[in-house]
Amino acid sequence: MDPSHQSRICISLCEPTVAALERAIAAAAKVCDLFEVRLDCLEPLELETGTASLTKLLEQSACKSILTFRPSQEGGRRTLDDATRQTFWSDAIFSSSFFDVELDLAEKFLTSETSPSLPIDWSRTICSHHDFVGVPDRLDQIYSRMSRTPARVLKIAVQAKDALDCLPVFQLLERAREDGREMIAIAMGVAGVATRILGPSRGSFLTYASLDTETPTAPGQLSVSELTDVYQLEKLDRHTQIFGLVGSPVSHSLSPFIHNAAFAATGTNAAYVPFETRDIPEFIKRMIHPRTRELDWRLRGLSVTAPHKFAVMEQLDWIEPAARHIGAVNTIVVEGETLQGFNTDATGFIKPLVQVFGDLRDARCAVIGAGGAASAALWSFKEAGSKATLFARDSAKASALAERFGSDWMPLEAAHFEGFDVVVNATPLGTLGQFETETPATASQLRGARLVYDLVYNPAETKFLREAREARCSTLDGLVMLVAQAAEQFKLWTGAAPPESVMYEAGERGLKRR
Ligand code: NAP
Repeated sequence: MDPSHQSRICISLCEPTVAALERAIAAAAKVCDLFEVRLDCLEPLELETGTASLTKLLEQSACKSILTFRPSQEGGRRTLDDATRQTFWSDAIFSSSFFDVELDLAEKFLTSETSPSLPIDWSRTICSHHDFVGVPDRLDQIYSRMSRTPARVLKIAVQAKDALDCLPVFQLLERAREDGREMIAIAMGVAGVATRILGPSRGSFLTYASLDTETPTAPGQLSVSELTDVYQLEKLDRHTQIFGLVGSPVSHSLSPFIHNAAFAATGTNAAYVPFETRDIPEFIKRMIHPRTRELDWRLRGLSVTAPHKFAVMEQLDWIEPAARHIGAVNTIVVEGETLQGFNTDATGFIKPLVQVFGDLRDARCAVIGAGGAASAALWSFKEAGSKATLFARDSAKASALAERFGSDWMPLEAAHFEGFDVVVNATPLGTLGQFETETPATASQLRGARLVYDLVYNPAETKFLREAREARCSTLDGLVMLVAQAAEQFKLWTGAAPPESVMYEAGERGLKRR
């Protein structure tokens, strides 16, 4: 690997034995040019007796390395008192490109008259602080204390509970840039994933990754292949346009696979990242709206998912009429100083259906469910001139929604779909996890229907689709809608033609990885 190349991804290795570490280093060297060895993960006897082999391993590796000996209060695997930590670094004989020493210990080395000064080179030292509980109020103070050490790189890792916690982390990177300091800043946890993806392009010295999805060493850590293949991390820079998915939860989503593949295929310098937040008004105000956001970034648009599709409408400057009728926004476009809202679920729903069914005028269509996706389906059927009937478990919701779109409604229990041209599942029944073994209708209920359309896309083969095939209905799965609505978003955001087959294949790949 090119030694002058700035390493942006560091694979963190946490292994119990030197032999396992040797295998992990060999695997890491194939995909990355920097790895971190978490010495606190080694069993105590391995560390004591394995020093010589470990030194040899590090010397022989063509990759740069970081050594850490993390105490449990900073996320390490061992309970280590200060004396043990001090002695460890004083005696350390390993050769490594970098040494990661926690701030409290670095300060002790710098101020203590009795203990020996840090025997390692400050120009190869990363001075770090980890908070696994949240984002400390005194983040600025921690940064100031770190900046007073002569360490080459400063590192702060905090625990994000909401995407809003990414804000102080990105701001820290800005501050370090202005101060001319090299810095690693990370918000750990699912809600902090944006900092792991966008960190290097916003000045972070590196971002950490696991070797594979099975071996993350910190909460929210992505694998090296997710960072390189899905997010194309090496291509991101300060000019990268940022798009994202906002909702709660978002980690199950296939949209990052689909949109990032579309950007890569069209040579668009853009990244699409997940933002998990419960507080949509604050998130839009502080991170997104061009008039109020506290971050200087090229954020250009968002997909919106549950539970925010309705609540987000309050935060927007303009909403297209169709989205108003449907009562939900799933797409935001940043246009100048304004936020504009759209609904691409409706087009994404109807387009693939028309492709397989043909003209839907006067078709008898059933929609199961009474939420946001059901609204988009009912609106689309109305626009297409179909006769729709809503089936839902909650009669109050069903009658209110049916009335809005001039449809009939019926209770879901004991429903029978014989004679219907199209039957749509707009409930989460069948989704991987808690609902996987459930279906909104059985084969005997579906017998006599023509086409069954499941909006659930994960797994690809749901119980509802299996029941439909048993009833000899033709079928359409949820991935076609997901990709079609994403293609509409791509058009709104870029003005370019979406590479739909690339997007579909990326969705399929995403499904296999989930
Ligand atoms: P939502 O607003 O939460 O609505 C879900 C609906 O399902 C509600 O009416 C709910 O009934 C009903 N439901 C939940 N559990 C049920 C059960 N056990 N029996 C009967 N009904 C039940 O969600 P949404 O946004 O409409 O999404 C619905 C599904 O469509 C989700 O799985 C989502 O992933 C999928 N979807 C797919 C795409 C795509 O592109 N393929 C796009 C959008 C949505 P209550 O109102 O009584 O709670």
